[in-house]
Amino acid sequence: VDGFLWVEAEDFEDYGGWVLDTQFVHLMGSAYLIAAGTGRPVEDAKTKVLVPRAGRWRLWVRCKNWLKGYAPGRFVVIVNGKPSRVLGTAPSEEWIWEFGGEFDLPEGEVELRLHDLTGYYGRCDALLLTLDEGYRPPNDLERLREERARLTGRPLKPREMGRFEVVVVGGGVAGCVAAIASARMGAKTALIQNRPVLGGNASDELGVSVDGAAGHHPFARETGIIEELGREKARWGLSWSEVLKRATEREPNLKVFLNWHVFEVRMRDKETIDAVVAMNTLTGEIALFEGEVFVDSTGDGWVGYYAGAEYRVGREGKDEFGESLAPEKPDRITMSGCIMGGSGILGFLAVDVGRPVEFKAPPWAPKLPPPEKFGREIRLVHTGSWWLEHPGEIDDLWDAEKARDELIRISFAYWDFLKNRWPGREKVKTYELVWVPIWLAKRETRRLVGDYILTQNDVQAGRIFPDAVAYGGWPIDVHHPKGIFSNDEGPFHCNIPVPIYTIPFRCLYSRNIRNLLIACRAISVTHIALGTVRVQATLATVGQAAGTAAAMCAKYGITPRELLKTRIWELQQILIREDAWIPGFRNEDPEDLALRARVVASSTWEVEKWGREKVEPAPDLHPLNMRRAMMLPVGRTRFIEAVYVLLRSNREDSVKVRLGLRPANGPKDFSSRRDLAVAEAEVPPGRESWVRFDVKCQVDAPYFWVWLSRAEGISWRLMREAPQGSCRAYEEEPEKWCCKEGFYAVCSDPPIEIETGIRPENVINGLTRPIGGEPNLWASDPEKPLPQWIELRWEDMVEISTVYLTFDTNLNERGWRTAFVPECVRDYDLLYHDGERWAEIVKVRGNYQRRRVHRFEPIRTRRLRLVVLATNGDRSARVFEIRAYGPSGRPASRTP
Ligand SMILES: Cc1cc2nc3c(=O)[nH]c(=O)nc-3n(C[C@H](O)[C@H](O)[C@H](O)COP(=O)(O)OP(=O)(O)OC[C@H]3O[C@@H](n4cnc5c(N)ncnc54)[C@H](O)[C@@H]3O)c2cc1C
Repeated sequence: VDGFLWVEAEDFEDYGGWVLDTQFVHLMGSAYLIAAGTGRPVEDAKTKVLVPRAGRWRLWVRCKNWLKGYAPGRFVVIVNGKPSRVLGTAPSEEWIWEFGGEFDLPEGEVELRLHDLTGYYGRCDALLLTLDEGYRPPNDLERLREERARLTGRPLKPREMGRFEVVVVGGGVAGCVAAIASARMGAKTALIQNRPVLGGNASDELGVSVDGAAGHHPFARETGIIEELGREKARWGLSWSEVLKRATEREPNLKVFLNWHVFEVRMRDKETIDAVVAMNTLTGEIALFEGEVFVDSTGDGWVGYYAGAEYRVGREGKDEFGESLAPEKPDRITMSGCIMGGSGILGFLAVDVGRPVEFKAPPWAPKLPPPEKFGREIRLVHTGSWWLEHPGEIDDLWDAEKARDELIRISFAYWDFLKNRWPGREKVKTYELVWVPIWLAKRETRRLVGDYILTQNDVQAGRIFPDAVAYGGWPIDVHHPKGIFSNDEGPFHCNIPVPIYTIPFRCLYSRNIRNLLIACRAISVTHIALGTVRVQATLATVGQAAGTAAAMCAKYGITPRELLKTRIWELQQILIREDAWIPGFRNEDPEDLALRARVVASSTWEVEKWGREKVEPAPDLHPLNMRRAMMLPVGRTRFIEAVYVLLRSNREDSVKVRLGLRPANGPKDFSSRRDLAVAEAEVPPGRESWVRFDVKCQVDAPYFWVWLSRAEGISWRLMREAPQGSCRAYEEEPEKWCCKEGFYAVCSDPPIEIETGIRPENVINGLTRPIGGEPNLWASDPEKPLPQWIELRWEDMVEISTVYLTFDTNLNERGWRTAFVPECVRDYDLLYHDGERWAEIVKVRGNYQRRRVHRFEPIRTRRLRLVVLATNGDRSARVFEIRAYGPSGRPASRTP
């Protein structure tokens, strides 16, 4: 438009030290540049514009004084070498146009520079040069949008991006898993993400670790798509963002749209979403994505909000659901987020520069509690901890920029605390603050309401719902409502372990919007239950369920609620088939031909012998400064001649130690006071040795435990592993035994022989992980060398075109760190018998995945054989499940 020149800050040719921030486009309308200098002015951002004609141009700058009364982020615009008035000083904290002054400019090229004055987060959205003296740019967002369109020629009418069967909005871990699940079910799927990378809180930008039930329960790691991604991540040393990029790009039915922020929906009717409207966070362009079924994975429940879905924010009162951990009265308090800068950087980054560095806090840094009331253990000094949190009244939804800015202030206050007031401040003397990241990782915002609201009582009872589709097991981890200002009340409101519980499908769709599923922390739970479901591996199981359900809704033309009524079993069976675990459920897929087969194997590890050669010493030694004990299963060995324990003596003389042997009725049951035998033995001086105690006793109980008397200068070595059901304890008070993790090094003569419960037919028992002491797998005899094989045999000829194999990737490991899990099968051949000889279906070498699916031209056979040639370390071939499908029952999905 004649007489106007509009320049977006994000369009500058060179950002210098300024950083592009697109996190708040929905609140302030556009991307902007921020001078994140940690107290040192950043380098100028520069660009050139063509001034159409010479004249006296008036400069307007859209900027923000982010802390009224302090104006921390001041800067000027330098126009052809001449500075503007100081900007970022307005008397309000709103994004507004500040007047920069008048400039006599020639026609032609003019240089513009953003020149930071403070290094304290000054921000600039756009510049406007005008010849019109009376012109005032609008501050109101709607009018600004129109004005921007008028002056830049940017169209207001949305670009049509096409119609999809499933539209997933939000590319956190759960959203990505949902989109992959949907696409693999055959639905044409769009994934819309407002960041330049995938992963949400786990992304390269933020770097939150992905956790779930495994840290707190045995064999509880989440499987399905998240396990597949985690294995790939470990194998190739990738970040979550990288692995999600690869995985989403591999899916032919999935299209990913990065840097698009959904800010509106178009409704077909009051209860049905027709399309979502998104803004490109880099260009400001508007686009429309039409769909049949929508999945809200925004973490914030934005799609639901725009569609008018019922939602909750904050804490329920105690009475509403009878939750003992809830406050008396409801309120709008939510858990704070944190600012993060990628893996391992929380709140700030400081480096040791090798010389003393002083630090003076800026005047706008808040006051933190004094050291004696700080209430937190400080372990790291180069970066902060997850409890660098603001009070829970601050609104992470509508005041998200403010929430981020409060966290910036807290980081400076905390660094001041470490440098100047912390009793351990000597440790940070030579550290210098180099970076305070600007990226906001959120913990809690909105929760959409489904047909069921999961509560504290459900998770504490470990409920198995009939419509269970996902599960959790992380503790109820709710942070203190006052954040870092909680004083010596510490960082938690509560952190209470829970058993494994299930999440019902009814929590995964909106109560009042017909075609909206939820796959993020905004699922239908109370504030207290959110404390456990919010971790990302748990949400990944939710994502797989919601994405699969979304594709089914699209395929059958039904709503999620109708799916619940008519096809929940089908959904559960598909999830189990795709290696999701639903506690309490097993494979009952009528199409799985394996369930009708007989299973035979070349060998089976039926009995585990616990002899001295099995004991692998651990680094720890525990002094016999109290009685200590170790429990083992009795197994088939009823009569025990002698017990051996591995003891270290620091003494110069030998000393006698006593050992008692008692029965136990179950694991961890140290209640018996009845010694079946007591024996004494001498511990040789000055070394570590196996000491034999002749007990000679019959044990007619399923477990036994041995205790050792106190002995000065003698310590008991721990061992790394022990037979299932083993545990150790120490005597806290006379005959009060406290059971602990880990094992003391013990074996017996004869070695105890434990039936493993491992059988070939376990591969078709419908369960694919150890549960309740049952291994649920086939493992070949570790005494017999590989190759070993396992075979499915049918009475009649069957036609097979797909085989699913599930190997062991040690679901006890908390995350996905090991590239090649030793238990996992590495090299194998899949064969079938054509009546005369064995023919090859596929040869696989170098496998590291738990789940492998092989699709091939149909074959007719009575015998299907898996030959395991090598593992990634284990001596046994270990297989949890084999499934076989014919062409008619061929599953639609495409797991690689
Ligand atoms: C500091 C911190 C530490 C934590 N520690 C752990 C931990 O150790 N382990 C663990 O498992 N969990 C942890 N959590 C919890 C966990 O990170 C969150 O609960 C989790 O990220 C929730 O996942 P989500 O998919 O719901 O949301 P997100 O991970 O936030 O993903 C949502 C995505 O949607 C995008 N989006 C939002 N709105 C829109 C829109 N309108 N249009 C398009 N895209 C949009 C967002 O940018 C984001 O990428 C932590 C959280 C925080 C804040």
